[in-house]
Amino acid sequence: MGTLTFQVTAQDGNARTGLLTVKHGSILTPAFMPVATRATVKALTSDDLHEVGAQLLICNTYHLMLQPKSDTIAALGGLHVFMNWNKPLVTDSGGFQAFSLGLGKEHAVGKLYFPGETYFESKRRGKSIVKINDKGIAFRSVYDNSRQFLTPEQSIRIQEQLGADMILVLDECTSPLSSKEYTAKSMERTHTWAKQCLAIHETDQALVGIVQGGHWQDLREKSANYIGSLDFDGFAIGGSLGKSKGDMHQVLEWVMPHLPDHKPRHLLGIGVVEDIFETVERGVDLFDCVSPTRLARSGYAYVRPPLGTKNNKFFYKLKSITYRQDNRPLDPHCTCKVCQRYSRAYIYHLLKTEELTGYSLISFHNVHFMLQLMKEIREAIAEGTFQTMKKEWIG
Ligand SMILES: [Zn+2]
Repeated sequence: MGTLTFQVTAQDGNARTGLLTVKHGSILTPAFMPVATRATVKALTSDDLHEVGAQLLICNTYHLMLQPKSDTIAALGGLHVFMNWNKPLVTDSGGFQAFSLGLGKEHAVGKLYFPGETYFESKRRGKSIVKINDKGIAFRSVYDNSRQFLTPEQSIRIQEQLGADMILVLDECTSPLSSKEYTAKSMERTHTWAKQCLAIHETDQALVGIVQGGHWQDLREKSANYIGSLDFDGFAIGGSLGKSKGDMHQVLEWVMPHLPDHKPRHLLGIGVVEDIFETVERGVDLFDCVSPTRLARSGYAYVRPPLGTKNNKFFYKLKSITYRQDNRPLDPHCTCKVCQRYSRAYIYHLLKTEELTGYSLISFHNVHFMLQLMKEIREAIAEGTFQTMKKEWIG
């Protein structure tokens, strides 16, 4: 067992608040973790992330093991020192990239496959550069095309070198278009790998198991039962969440009753506003998603209700001529430093001229938006008004 304690502090239906403590500090849940893919949240410094109130970040093992390599980071004092971040950190196993560069690429889909919704993932179909067998995942580096082979043991050793507070087991993430037969086979492989990871894990980092099983009830229940029975410090729900939002909610309803109540639950890679409400309602404690910074780089700014609605998905395209002379802040109801000091017109101009500061300002605001949303959700759960808040936001 690693260093991790978790206490549920309030409950409103299945939604819950908690206090999660790991080596580098405590986190109030439900919590959103900005994604620091290559040891940085794009366009933001670690100081910005402290200022905006990020409680923890998640870094990407696939990228860091290839560049600058995990032994380099270990020699420089570990990931916390390397990126000047003294609060909690999570690393993933590298397995998800095998998906996004493998099946995800072949099927041209993301974790969720919603026909017509392309603003988020613009994946082009291509030949998979990944091969998976029972020993591990063979792939080519996106940096130098070198051949790589990642086993469960290597994934753990690499994450031990990186030194995050919470680390994830290696798993295989299937596509929403994978067959049931393939998903079942892949799930068994993930279970075997989970046990191997537990057996070889040596440090005091908290180790998180991952539930797979695609969008089939029997597979999801089997996986949640099995993974939930193992001695992990926390649990994550990974893999394909189906072909619609309804499927995703259904998957959570199958999985959650089989996971121990007293350990944290992380829904991997999900985090648009609507999903946050629906999944917090079903008992999820932790989220990670690139959406705030990815949207920022495409010139989209988040807005709260009443301007933000379910229809506009709580964001608007600032990089539109409409805002050329608009001297209001990005979101008139936002308390972040960018909204106190800069106008839409100014940031529009920066985006238009591709000035890098524009991306930093809008990213800061967007990350603030998500963290503020989580704070208000925690307050609503504690006060027993989560349903009222959910209604106000998404109807
Ligand atoms: Zn703001």
